[in-house]
Amino acid sequence: MTSRPGPTTRFAPAPTGRLHLGHLANAIHVWGFARRLGGRVLLRVEDHDRLRCRPEYETALLDDLDRLGVAADEPSTDELRAGPSSYRQSDNGPVYAATLDRLAGVADVYACDCSRSTFAAWRSAHGRPWSGPGCPGGCLAREIAASRDLTLRVALGDGDEAWNDLLMGPRSGPVSPDGDLPVRDRNGNWTYAFCVVVDDLRHGVDLVVRGEDLVDATPAQVRLADLLGRPTPPRFAHHPLVRRLNGSKLSKADGATAVGDRLDAGHTREELFGEAAVRVGLLDDPRPIAFDEALHLLP
Ligand SMILES: [Zn+2]
Repeated sequence: MTSRPGPTTRFAPAPTGRLHLGHLANAIHVWGFARRLGGRVLLRVEDHDRLRCRPEYETALLDDLDRLGVAADEPSTDELRAGPSSYRQSDNGPVYAATLDRLAGVADVYACDCSRSTFAAWRSAHGRPWSGPGCPGGCLAREIAASRDLTLRVALGDGDEAWNDLLMGPRSGPVSPDGDLPVRDRNGNWTYAFCVVVDDLRHGVDLVVRGEDLVDATPAQVRLADLLGRPTPPRFAHHPLVRRLNGSKLSKADGATAVGDRLDAGHTREELFGEAAVRVGLLDDPRPIAFDEALHLLP
């Protein structure tokens, strides 16, 4: 008798900066859910944004994971260092292009020449921001020729998508909160939403564990996955974001939280996991804690 396999989840940092305490808090949740549910963890480099990502940040990120002793089931950091990978978004442009072609067969994909000022002008004319499907310029109906310097959007339609969040409980929200979903931006970058939906589908990810800042992005991703033929959406767990000890939100630009710098300065990885656990509300008081032990702190 074979047991039902556990879920596949992923740890998916963007190399737009150094690994920081927010990543550690996310790792505790990702590996914690995988451990609890008998699942496995994929490592994915989310470098879809070619303007903000840098190879040296990826190098540092892989080195930091090794120093922390945090290893995914697939791929290893060495596999990523060795060259092109299915798990590095910038290596998979043809996959996204082919998926876009497929998407265009089942939904309206269109070029949009609206800029921030188009949205701002609509807002000042109507006294509220653009909301719902479409875009203020009516670009779908205008049938603008696609080019690399125009946003590509997909019409996901109207309405809501609902899911039962493993941490936040029953949630729902509009699939088009502020216009049709961009799949490629005006700099020619595939968007975050498009890449993660495509990657989660092709890699068999069925459990998404990430910060609460992405809750509002979830309904569009559920709808997009459905259009791409995903039979059931992944499960979601959105966890609290890391806070400064004074309670304010910690940002990626907060240099003092760079994991590599802290290790260089003589802090142990157990101290850093303990600090991340406190700042995300999993521990009341700071104490050094092994990664494996931190995984048991999840609610
Ligand atoms: Zn438009």
